Amino acid sequence: MSDSAVRVRYGPSPTGEPHIGNIRTALFDWLLARRHGGQFIVRIEDTDQARRVEGAEEGILEALRWLGLDWDEGPDIGGPHAPYRQSERLPLYREAAERLVAAGKAYRCFCSPDRLDAVRKAQQQQKLAPGYDRHCRNLTPEQVDAAAADGPGVVRFAMPREGTTVVEDALRGAVEFRNELLDDHVLLKRDGFPTYHLASVVDDREMRISHVIRGEEWLPSAPRHVAQYEALGWAPPIWVHVPIIRGADKGKLSKRHGATSVRAYAEQGFLPEALLNFMALLGWSKDESTTIMSRAEMVEAFSIEGLGLASAMFDLERLSEMNARYIRALSPANFLERGRPWLEAAVGREVDLGRLLPLAPSIQERVKLLPELVDYADFFYAEGALEYSNEELMGRGYRGKPWAALEALEAALRLLRGLEGWDAAGLEAGLRGLAEERGEKPGALFTPVRVAVTGKRIAPPLFETLEVLGREATVGRLNAAAERLARPDD
Ligand code: GLU
Repeated sequence: MSDSAVRVRYGPSPTGEPHIGNIRTALFDWLLARRHGGQFIVRIEDTDQARRVEGAEEGILEALRWLGLDWDEGPDIGGPHAPYRQSERLPLYREAAERLVAAGKAYRCFCSPDRLDAVRKAQQQQKLAPGYDRHCRNLTPEQVDAAAADGPGVVRFAMPREGTTVVEDALRGAVEFRNELLDDHVLLKRDGFPTYHLASVVDDREMRISHVIRGEEWLPSAPRHVAQYEALGWAPPIWVHVPIIRGADKGKLSKRHGATSVRAYAEQGFLPEALLNFMALLGWSKDESTTIMSRAEMVEAFSIEGLGLASAMFDLERLSEMNARYIRALSPANFLERGRPWLEAAVGREVDLGRLLPLAPSIQERVKLLPELVDYADFFYAEGALEYSNEELMGRGYRGKPWAALEALEAALRLLRGLEGWDAAGLEAGLRGLAEERGEKPGALFTPVRVAVTGKRIAPPLFETLEVLGREATVGRLNAAAERLARPDD
């Protein structure tokens, strides 16, 4: 493969939020381009005006940006083959369609929607394969002129009626299709817009695309595209139809498998690098064992040969595990910064993350998703009273014995007020010593202290937490807890 010739495109239709199945092919495109020093092109396939969704294009570009998949040519940055929105390239498609009509390889069709409907119904009744019956394929020039007076109709491709069309797929080898089973598809619609079949072929040629990587749901369309290339006298690109992604139940990936839009993953607190790594493995592998790869390692290792034919299995649990690994690998400062939006939303104001730094590594060990940082850190920033019950304060050690818990808290208060210095090691030695002195299990004593200062039973490691919280706040919260214990739960 000559490196400089690698040009790949991601051709999303702006019909909504990009989903994981769709953006995975963008990742494969991007990896191939970066591996070979080629170009990754974003082309907006908006020829179906009825399905266009306002804002979808921005959403697609945002998802690519968030994942760090940078593009060399695209609707926002232009490039040598601009424009990169199909709706702005109509003359190109019209020209190709007219060329095909002039060469007898395509024809105008004036069949009304009602007629097409009737044909479809008749085919259904006779249990025939649905498809256009070629009614207009052999109109004389006079008939065409006469019909055109009432409107331009559509342009259909005249599929060869016999023989086969072979799609040379990089993963599957030669895939043969019988032409008689392929009807004459529309190239140009009544509204003057091309169909996907025409627009993608014209653009792939015009933009010098070397490899078309797309989901295997497009394989049945590929013989139509190959036939168009032949009719236009153009050499086709290399076809790469990647297996679709399935859920654990083998069904085609959908929301019920926990798969959602890229934006939803971002909002749930997945890291882009984890999602990227996870997606790369949906249909591609470096070898039999490597699962964790940086972006650079993936670029280095990527090859079309590494794409497999087995359908890729989407496993949300695996994605969460991968996210947890990536979270653990972040530097503490970076981890806190990434979690900042959730923490600030929960606390309701800007927070100073610096004080959490010493605790960050132990929080990183405990979370799978970024928003979980909130559970481990919001209490540091709480200004009013924390919410917990006396039951929680007493824990198992003092269950049903508020006076005993109160006594323990008061002993802890005395100790902490007078403790020399305020660091995790000293706090641990002091509190463990106190438990021993009192002849109780450390856990029994630590629970009311933990609940008093964090408001939770599950919290970051206690002594580091106290160190970060500081003496004043710790003593204040222990006092508040002691007061609570002195009065019954309300
Ligand atoms: N616009 C098509 C899509 O939505 C692109 C298919 C292709 O890559 O050829 O998915």
